Amino acid sequence: MAYDFDLFVIGAGSGGVRAARFAAGFGAKVAVAESRYLGGTCVNVGCVPKKLLVYGAHVADELEQAAGYGWTLEEGHFDWGTLIANKNREIERLNGIYRNLLVNSGVTLLQGHARMTGAHEVEVEGQRYSAANILIATGGWPQVPDIPGKELAITSNEAFYLKELPRRVLVVGGGYIAVEFAGIFQGLGADTTLLYRGDLFLRGFDGSVRTHLKEELEKRGLDLQFNADIQRIDQQADGSLKATLKDGRELIADCVFYATGRRPMLDNLGLENTGVELDERGYIRVDDLYRTTEPSVFALGDVIGRVQLTPVALAEGMAVARHLFKPEQYRSVDYQNIPTAVFSQPPIGTVGLTEEQALAAGHKIQIFESRFRAMKLTLTDLQEKTLMKLVVDAETDKVLGCHMVGPDAGEIIQGLGIALKAGATKQQFDETIGVHPTAAEEFVTMRTVTR
Ligand code: FAD
Ligand code: NDP
Repeated sequence: MAYDFDLFVIGAGSGGVRAARFAAGFGAKVAVAESRYLGGTCVNVGCVPKKLLVYGAHVADELEQAAGYGWTLEEGHFDWGTLIANKNREIERLNGIYRNLLVNSGVTLLQGHARMTGAHEVEVEGQRYSAANILIATGGWPQVPDIPGKELAITSNEAFYLKELPRRVLVVGGGYIAVEFAGIFQGLGADTTLLYRGDLFLRGFDGSVRTHLKEELEKRGLDLQFNADIQRIDQQADGSLKATLKDGRELIADCVFYATGRRPMLDNLGLENTGVELDERGYIRVDDLYRTTEPSVFALGDVIGRVQLTPVALAEGMAVARHLFKPEQYRSVDYQNIPTAVFSQPPIGTVGLTEEQALAAGHKIQIFESRFRAMKLTLTDLQEKTLMKLVVDAETDKVLGCHMVGPDAGEIIQGLGIALKAGATKQQFDETIGVHPTAAEEFVTMRTVTR
């Protein structure tokens, strides 16, 4: 049977665009449907605008350090409206770039919500299209617990478009988004409290990293409240919000920001018209080749709930395009040793096993840990400490994990990701010549086993 398209991609986000462009490049006839914004979450309400706001907040640090370097500055004034307008302009520019990328690679771009009407059929704006293969790349959506007053809270989606910087903010959650946005709000001058339901935030990250970041955030005056959870939110007569915690305490704020995870975006997708099944967590079930339980339908990225990071969605998109249209170049995605950063202030960079994971996996390990005040701060009054840590297999000498909290951690960890992928040993780290004077050189000069 002749289909309208070889591949119909639902969602022009990180994974969908990558799969569509490469499939078209391999000669396939490809369509992409997008209901909201080209580039998806990452470009519009994720990585990119987030990083721009992080840069904005970081300026406060630079201003604070300036005096130690002899600069006398007029008192600074921050204007949220300018930052958001400039950010919006940059996002629009990127939207245009994504449009060009798709159109120039020969992809048919359809604007509108896509719904599957069969295993080989998709409907967009009342028009039906047939396709040999369908790829679901619809991403995720913020999830807010069902508490009274939840409609008064915002999520990351709205935070990027707030008209004003709130004076007092409660950030709820203890994952990437909560920690990053707490740093943004606080850095830009809002009185910020982070509430997390457990004992310590960033579950799953290395224990030393979590404790170190907690100490550094507290030094900066961020109000961290662990074992704290909101029971209800009420609007007060003056417009402010009252959050009543489960332990009975009441907190007043102008904005309550929830970052309590994301659900797969499956709304009105027409899964019921296909044999696509969900896994026990509610994400689309796929096999190693991203095939769903419906043979003609594939899925990738946040909607399959594996690793919710843009570079992972990109790699999965590449894998699907190659599997379908360039099988001789197929390479499976390596989910081991994925480097990642949390753009908190200071940021975290991490790759490989945490100390806890290494022990749980039965490794006999050596820990190398270093805490120091970065050279840049020595002429200032700031007492922030950088943490670097290596987890090494005591039997094979292989470096199992690298962890850092400190300036440029994300930039530094990328290179270490290559070293871990290549299977580097601690001896090879030691034999690598440092770049002096940098903070990064500490990763190749830690000689004494901490424990
Ligand atoms: P998405 O990028 O979400 O794209 C899905 C697209 O599908 C969307 O454009 C959506 O509108 C569209 N869509 C959905 N349903 C339909 C439909 N039925 N019809 C048509 N179109 C539809 N990752 C990092 O690696 N680094 C970071 O710094 C980072 N920061 C983040 C910050 C925030 C605040 C958030 C929320 C996420 C962040 N992420 C980050 C995660 C990253 O954004 C996601 O992992 C990535 O975007 C997932 O890509 P995707 O292709 O699966 O989905
Ligand atoms: P995460 O899954 O990382 O964190 C969710 C947080 O919310 C956890 O601390 C969780 O607690 C808490 N939580 C969950 N449910 C509730 C509830 N009902 N009540 C109170 N707290 C709750 O999600 P995020 O929303 O922070 O981010 C989504 C994903 O996006 C990330 O996992 C990451 O993959 C990606 N991302 C990546 C970034 C980067 O690369 N820099 C930046 C931002 C996002 P607990 O731990 O106890 O379960």
